[in-house]
Amino acid sequence: MENNKYDVVIGLEIHLESNTKTKMFCSCLNDPDERKPNQNVCPICMGHPGTLPVINERAIDNIIKLGLALNTEISSYTKFDRKNYFYPDLPKGYQISQFDYPVCKNGYLGVMVEKGIKLMRINRIHQEEDAGRLAHTNDATSSLVDYNRAGVPLIELVTEPDFKSAGEVIRFAKELQLIAKYLNVSNANMEKGEMRIEVNLSLKEKGEEELGTKVEVKNLNSFKAVEKSILFEIERQAKILDKGERVVQETRGWNEAKQETLSQRSKEDSDEYRYFPEPDLPPLEITEKRIATLKSQIPELPQNKRARIEAEYGINDLKVLEIFIENKDFGEYFEKIATEISNWMIDKKIEESKAFELFRLASNYLTSDLIGLSGGKIIDFSKNIDPENFAEFISMIYLGEINSKIAKIILKDMFELKKDPSHILEDRGLKQIDDGDEIDNIIEEVLENNKNAVEDYKKGKTASFQFLIGQIMAKSKGKINPDKAREILSQKLENIQ
Ligand code: ADP
Ligand code: ZN
Ligand code: MG
Repeated sequence: MENNKYDVVIGLEIHLESNTKTKMFCSCLNDPDERKPNQNVCPICMGHPGTLPVINERAIDNIIKLGLALNTEISSYTKFDRKNYFYPDLPKGYQISQFDYPVCKNGYLGVMVEKGIKLMRINRIHQEEDAGRLAHTNDATSSLVDYNRAGVPLIELVTEPDFKSAGEVIRFAKELQLIAKYLNVSNANMEKGEMRIEVNLSLKEKGEEELGTKVEVKNLNSFKAVEKSILFEIERQAKILDKGERVVQETRGWNEAKQETLSQRSKEDSDEYRYFPEPDLPPLEITEKRIATLKSQIPELPQNKRARIEAEYGINDLKVLEIFIENKDFGEYFEKIATEISNWMIDKKIEESKAFELFRLASNYLTSDLIGLSGGKIIDFSKNIDPENFAEFISMIYLGEINSKIAKIILKDMFELKKDPSHILEDRGLKQIDDGDEIDNIIEEVLENNKNAVEDYKKGKTASFQFLIGQIMAKSKGKINPDKAREILSQKLENIQ
């Protein structure tokens, strides 16, 4: 939101649960779908005395990959530290985290803003472990703890305070979520708490150099909540500053029911955590070779994919493009169809310059009609319609063998009956009439039965032409190509005196 008097300054701290088979420092399963509380626990993640943690190298691979995708430096030397605090969801009484030597530092991620691409700087990405989950009984007399999540590898990313609006924050967070999914580093589902965003926000008078006092907002479990909490905080802090008062540095929580942020606690300084090097873990050396290997495993990332799909297939409708980017499999399905279309074009010696027209036809049918047929959901459509059949369907529309009305019927049958389009056409008797005599007969008959309209047309009433076309289409049950019908009808009308 724009505010005339103040500049909005926002920095983010984002946690991502890392995708691994086992937890960060023990061999308990890291299973997002576990059913029973305290099913995956052991003496190590419960912090029993005498147990020793072991670093999960796959988790380190994940964080390195994320760092590479976000243009950070990967430290050759990194180590773990204990962050000490007491809370019932933290059985060890400390969290193993990283203080002064994070795995990744100084990166950036470009996001689209009104004026083009803005680079949001990333201060650091470090490795830590998650805590358990508390559940409170309905009568509010007791709390239950589930330690399944305790010790699950957690990636923390800290940005510089580069954001000026809720829009910039959401765009960054969504792009980060996509990258994490493309890398398979995290499922990054916000509702499941696999991606958690903390917003640090302050205001300063316009033009003022020095940053104002910030407030940290937690408990944001949807993008909507992130957006609303930012708008709320801007208003709240502006009111305080307007009165000439000072903003208190504190942690606030988003209250979904009240739609406001509420004070949770005054902010602790990092020295209150009494960070000290984790005595049970050796520092970690990350070799150039390891980094190179991981780099080679990084797939095409969303930003490159956007540019490529636009250039290769001429998809410039941003909404359509984003559907393919956000739904990786669906995007790949489209690309397979496009390949089939290209093959078909070569086969039929169709000019290459027509390719974009065909690809766009395909992308429109995919993102509107086909998704509509599955009730608005994006599923694995290749199970119903293989790419070759979809390409054939598009070629039929392109060649005018079927009109858009028939196309809808055929696509529905393709989806529901898993049949190929040419068979459906035959079975339903929908094949277009391309026999010249038959078309002639139908049009003659229509002219014979609508003498008034013909007369009107001759007197200059152009709307009658469309009426006659309608009659022809109805009589032929839509099986005459409308362009052809128009052409022949105007010829015939010319000839009538
Ligand atoms: P702290 O020591 O309080 O945790 P950090 O310097 O580690 O503060 O920053 C935490 C987050 O807060 C970062 O994302 C950073 O960009 C952001 N931040 C720091 N100062 C401000 C500020 N004045 N206004 C808004 N965000 C800020
Ligand atoms: Zn364990
Ligand atoms: Mg901090």
